[in-house]
Amino acid sequence: MGWTDERVEILKKLWLDGLSASQIAKQLGGVTRNAVIGKVHRLGLSGRAAPSHPSRPAFKAPRAPRPITHAPPRPRSVEPRIHAAPAPRPAPFVELPGTATVLTLGAHMCKWPIGDPATDEFTFCGRRAANEGPYCIDHARVAYQPPQARKKTTAAELARSLRRYI
Ligand SMILES: [Zn+2]
Repeated sequence: MGWTDERVEILKKLWLDGLSASQIAKQLGGVTRNAVIGKVHRLGLSGRAAPSHPSRPAFKAPRAPRPITHAPPRPRSVEPRIHAAPAPRPAPFVELPGTATVLTLGAHMCKWPIGDPATDEFTFCGRRAANEGPYCIDHARVAYQPPQARKKTTAAELARSLRRYI
């Protein structure tokens, strides 16, 4: 079977489509793979396989830009809180230096004794007494806390005993 114009066109098309010589031979029928290769050479199409002499301008399809994957940030493993913040403790009672003496203690001043009555440094709290009581809020809290929870027993007792002299 010879090369008719039509078959040559088919050959060109298939060749340019990238088919191998044997595939083209099969498609055309009646020709061998070698015959296809020979014809391709004669047509000057063989450059397809020869990178040094490309018959077609090498066309590089522009690479699709790599999709920027906004992968969600890997969730940081939540570290177990080893050092859990301790529950806030109530501020410990701090005995402030007294502001009043026996001479200056007024009616509405806290009569909480501070210090040793035997010394000159003995004072009374002297801050404003709360709720018409003899003590300021802080000292009232200390004085009237339940007996089993009372820790400053001596101070409270001292206060009680002192009340008789005030
Ligand atoms: Zn007080």
